Amino acid sequence: MTEERTRKILSLLEKAYPDPKLILRYKNPLELLIATILAAQCTDERVNKVTEILFTKYKSAKEYAFAQQDVFEQEIRPTGFYRNKAKNIIACAKALEERFHGKVPETMEELLTLPGVGRKTASVLLGNVFGKQAIAVDTHVFRVSHRLDFAKFNNPDKVEIELCRIIPQKKWTQSCLVMGTHGRLTCIARKPLCKECVVEKLCNSKDKIV
Ligand code: SF4
Repeated sequence: MTEERTRKILSLLEKAYPDPKLILRYKNPLELLIATILAAQCTDERVNKVTEILFTKYKSAKEYAFAQQDVFEQEIRPTGFYRNKAKNIIACAKALEERFHGKVPETMEELLTLPGVGRKTASVLLGNVFGKQAIAVDTHVFRVSHRLDFAKFNNPDKVEIELCRIIPQKKWTQSCLVMGTHGRLTCIARKPLCKECVVEKLCNSKDKIV
């Protein structure tokens, strides 16, 4: 992996997707935190359908903290793994109330102390609502990173480290949004649209279909 190749690929992807954005809908850090926890093993589109109703009912960490677990489970059920997610979200909201005055903290270290929050969720928040540079390795970024030889490890946290090494820090957040968009629209999991791919000539993936 040469620096030149990485730079070239990212530049082509940036041109192809000039305004990449998260699919998850949110209006504040708390909403993005809840949506990102719900998005584990679920599509962003399905999460948006659930949060459209959820966010009209729960508006603060305190309200989530006092949610009735069995009722909350049913409210988020379409996102899958709903028992665990409900448990984590309620515990997370309690931690926000008890330790952070009901506000979502703005550092990786503090975010990682919250139940249900791993590095991906923390990075999504840091990069998209707190204006920091962070690499959030979701399923799309993970797949695209492997297909384009940006990463070799099978663990998202290790892929994050690999990406941090080859992408300039000032581009961490943007590059992830671009790679995520490429993964959703073109470098699709089952049948990548390689004929439409702007980096096809630079891709040596075994998954390539031409
Ligand atoms: S050529 Fe195909 S496999 Fe390679 S990055 Fe493009 S879409 Fe993905």
